[in-house]
Amino acid sequence: MAYELPPLPYDYNALEPHIDEQTMRIHHDKHHNAYVTKANDALKDHADFAKLSVEDLLRGIDKLPDSIRTALRNNAGGHSNHSIFWKIMKPGGGGKPSGDLAKAIDSTFGSFDAFKEKLTAAAAGQFGSGWGWLTVDKGGKLQVAGYPNQDSPYMQNLTPLVGVDVWEHAYYLKYQNRRPDYLNAWWNVINWDEVAKRFAAAK
Ligand code: MN
Repeated sequence: MAYELPPLPYDYNALEPHIDEQTMRIHHDKHHNAYVTKANDALKDHADFAKLSVEDLLRGIDKLPDSIRTALRNNAGGHSNHSIFWKIMKPGGGGKPSGDLAKAIDSTFGSFDAFKEKLTAAAAGQFGSGWGWLTVDKGGKLQVAGYPNQDSPYMQNLTPLVGVDVWEHAYYLKYQNRRPDYLNAWWNVINWDEVAKRFAAAK
């Protein structure tokens, strides 16, 4: 079962003015599509690994043959990361989480604002291409970290909850070198309902 490019759950221009239509078109149709194509290409002679979900494949990244491990770290990682990214954004998003997720954020980071500052700093400070992630481990512990390239939290047996893409392809057309401005705007499109669903499912 080859991976497939999931459709965006909203229009390309739906996240304007925070994320512009042209960036969304290129990011989804070209960049994400290329990760899917290259991951499928790496898996074409490996039916045993191709049958796994992308999450299980990434959890078992160390079991992959040397000949395809790097290609899948980058491209199955890219496919998984972007599949999450589109869903944890929505038009009219932003604000704060509620319920169990809000409680976990408060007890881990002290406050929502402290969490927001920490994830923003991790994403802003990621040297070169990568992501900022909020993850949860098997024990329910939250953690914020910057990840290089398309490395996936699943590779560390963590469940990704919130990911913010800080590859230049995610913001350069609108924000050029102003990554912090992109990050500030990005908080206006986060879909907390979806993040709360991911948190509940991870438990
Ligand atoms: Mn990207």
